[in-house]
Amino acid sequence: MHYADFADYEQTVHEFHKDHGITHLSAGNPPCCVQCGGSWDSMGNYCLKCGETSESQIEPWFSWTPCDCCGDPQGGNRHHASGWNNRSDTHWFVICETCAYYAEYGCLDDLAMEEVEATREEAEPYEADGDLEVAPPDEEGKMRVTDCHGNLVDVYEPGSLDWWEWLEHFKPQD
Ligand SMILES: [Zn+2]
Ligand SMILES: [Zn+2]
Repeated sequence: MHYADFADYEQTVHEFHKDHGITHLSAGNPPCCVQCGGSWDSMGNYCLKCGETSESQIEPWFSWTPCDCCGDPQGGNRHHASGWNNRSDTHWFVICETCAYYAEYGCLDDLAMEEVEATREEAEPYEADGDLEVAPPDEEGKMRVTDCHGNLVDVYEPGSLDWWEWLEHFKPQD
């Protein structure tokens, strides 16, 4: 995945969390039956209410339905996922492999992350010409930098580099 697409992806996931008022998302192992909300039997194998097996709700399945989280319209494996917040409201979603992985590890798989890093390194240093727009930091302190056409240039993430150090990246090259 190209690094700018990855930044867009992270933003989409972030907005999904915000829109649904959830702070956590987790795929697989539904705590109760996804079909009817019933409880599992003591062994956790089947639903006491509708008889659905828990295994059928843990295993991913193929679907063309867009992912609830990132909206990916491509067909692929889907997982049941639960989202919750500190008021312990639980919401159910159907999410893609990428989002299931991201929900678990906070990144993409190794191969995709290598590509993100490689494209980030290859990227031409951006010629700062005074037309860059820096959005105010979101609650995690991330700041989106866009050019005068509104295209995403990069996302500053606190923790890695000091903001001013990071900005050096956009200085015109001599
Ligand atoms: Zn059930
Ligand atoms: Zn997704």
